[in-house]
Amino acid sequence: MHKKFRGKSVHGFRLMFEVGLQEDALPSLKSSLNTDLSVLDSLLPIHIKHKLQSDTSIYVCASTKEEVTVSRYHPKVCKTFPGSITISAARYLQFRLCWGDGAVLVHEFAHAVHDKLIPSGFACEIIEKVGENVNVARVTSFTCSVSR
Ligand SMILES: [Zn+2]
Repeated sequence: MHKKFRGKSVHGFRLMFEVGLQEDALPSLKSSLNTDLSVLDSLLPIHIKHKLQSDTSIYVCASTKEEVTVSRYHPKVCKTFPGSITISAARYLQFRLCWGDGAVLVHEFAHAVHDKLIPSGFACEIIEKVGENVNVARVTSFTCSVSR
């Protein structure tokens, strides 16, 4: 990973801000992330929350390249940002307005739970079958993409 990040803990979650992010965008971004992470802090069951706080960092990227999109969970097997979430600083603020406080991160952390806490992770047959029946996995692909 050639980018440089600076870390900060917010509500026990690890935020990593890319060095070089536009300073004028930072106050509203930090304020929004503080709100969103407070929602997660109050919603998540405690053992799941502690697991995610300890091993799932959120990288806030200046880049608008494909690897970042709006938000994305990168599975444990990925070479870049393994087991972590990336969000685009510019797009996140716009996109979160469509879904409400905390919703984008709840979505991404759900992928992390699937990968890290469900037996067999993304290969879990029970979840695969549900996905085939409901076809939910395909419908959600416009909001973020999971490479696996
Ligand atoms: Zn997704």
